[in-house]
Amino acid sequence: MSNTENTTPEKLNFLEEIIEASIKAGQNDIKTRFPPEPNGYLHIGHAKSICLNFGLAEKYNGKCNLRFDDTNPVKEDVEYVDSIQDDVRWLGFQWDSIHYASDYFDQLYEWACELIKKGKAYVDDQPQEEIRLTRGTVTEPGKESPFRNRTPEENLDLFQRMRAGEFKDGEKVLRAKIDMAHPNMLLRDPIMYRIIHTEHHRTGNKWCIYPMYDYAHGQSDSIEHITHSICTLEFDVHRPLYDWFIQALDIFPSHQYEFARLNLTHTVMSKRKLLQLVQDKLVMGWDDPRMPTITALRRRGYTPASIRAFADKVGVAKRDNIIDLGLLEFCVREDLNKTADRRMAVLDPIKVVITNYPDGKEEVIKCINNPEDETRGTRTVPFTKEVYIERDDFMEEPPKKYFRLSPGKEVRLRYAYLIKCEEVIKDASGKITELRCTYDPESKGGGSSDGRKVKGVIHWVPASHALKAEIRLFDRLFTIEDTSNMDEGKSFTDYLNPDSLKTVTGYIEPELGNAAIGEKFQFERLGYFCKDPDSTPDNPVFNRTVTLKDSWSKIAK
Ligand code: ATP
Ligand code: MG
Repeated sequence: MSNTENTTPEKLNFLEEIIEASIKAGQNDIKTRFPPEPNGYLHIGHAKSICLNFGLAEKYNGKCNLRFDDTNPVKEDVEYVDSIQDDVRWLGFQWDSIHYASDYFDQLYEWACELIKKGKAYVDDQPQEEIRLTRGTVTEPGKESPFRNRTPEENLDLFQRMRAGEFKDGEKVLRAKIDMAHPNMLLRDPIMYRIIHTEHHRTGNKWCIYPMYDYAHGQSDSIEHITHSICTLEFDVHRPLYDWFIQALDIFPSHQYEFARLNLTHTVMSKRKLLQLVQDKLVMGWDDPRMPTITALRRRGYTPASIRAFADKVGVAKRDNIIDLGLLEFCVREDLNKTADRRMAVLDPIKVVITNYPDGKEEVIKCINNPEDETRGTRTVPFTKEVYIERDDFMEEPPKKYFRLSPGKEVRLRYAYLIKCEEVIKDASGKITELRCTYDPESKGGGSSDGRKVKGVIHWVPASHALKAEIRLFDRLFTIEDTSNMDEGKSFTDYLNPDSLKTVTGYIEPELGNAAIGEKFQFERLGYFCKDPDSTPDNPVFNRTVTLKDSWSKIAK
């Protein structure tokens, strides 16, 4: 992906600098992990994290694990576990090994007992609400629990009974015994375990106590010998606690590093909000092509290479920012320009009748599949007396410099003939129903009978051979750029773009009848399109991935 002709030394991002420093200091076995919670489908923000973690491991001959952070049985599901694996593979990465935080429940439990014996953890009977209220504030210390000074023996006994299911949800928690006056509120005796009598998607009913994120995450990293545990910025305040557990247990010293999460304009990027869109049927599902999920981008026609290129261009920042959706579109356009075959389709047709073309005659027109890639060769499109052109490629009263079709003017039908508009036919309402044209028989594929030059080239399909197709035209899902910046009292769903999906019936060239689901094309002059799984033999469906117009490239250079 990098430009090999470019000999200037590569600029490292801050994580690469950190890793290179660790390698210099003698750490050879670099290991990262991607740790999703299986409580929803992955989105483009996760894709950034995947590219980063797997990418760093690849670059430094290390390893990257996939680990499901499945410590909350209430919101998690196997459907998500499966989709996450699909998405990572589809993006082009292979994990070294796959793990579940739930695989470590026994080890985590043993370690919790160890901390209890060392006097570093205790069972608290206060309700969670009380614990929250007595944590203090940034300026005031918290209040110690009346149960804080239980003996290790009593704590061990209570903790074992918590595990054995003697108590109801919320009756007791296990807390780390750190410092109720610590300036970092997260270190004021954080909760390590809570009681949840809910079946877990992997461990069934074996457990009714579940570890909190802060206690599970770092220890899981340590078990797997993760050297660089990369997470998003909001976890920087958790780092001292991450280190505290590892030191208190004296286990493999994994370290945590934070980078800024990816935010994109005109969308939302939290699984909770995405789930709400799905559950409230505001979109067709997790893979609705307007969603920012990986599965949706894939259905829409994005390629793994385009998403990896996007992650690369975004880079790694240390401060939160919001990236223009136009950059993502730029990346897919660049990739598809090289890889997608060209086809012709007309989305809003007017019929053109070529009056001097013999009735019943049919020719084949040779069309180039991809001018960017000769090896893609050519195909043919039948040419007949009647063709469809795009309604907005004709203007009855054109302004100056209008090079498309207008009365008395000539235009080239792409790869075929020059035609000249002789007569405009309208219905009773004044709508144009047909254009009568003549053609220059000497102009096939280029040139003309007398050497005259014609500027305009438009796409077309043969009326009798074209297939009907359902074309889905997508636009941004939200009307505002920054969905975290809403007016007071508004919900993010108030900003859904009512015009984010427009469905039209178009005509496509016959060759497209053979397209496979997921196959991608450039419809000449219209954009990039991908065949949707909703297609049936009678009703092919194409999603517009992105238009051809490129509003980003000026800024991206
Ligand atoms: P969400 O808030 O969207 O539900 P999450 O952080 O709860 O996301 P996890 O499943 O916990 O989702 O995330 C797995 C990994 O992906 C974590 O390391 C997390 O930091 C990273 N990640 C999540 N969202 C983003 C984002 N927008 N940009 C970069 N990395 C992200
Ligand atoms: Mg999370």
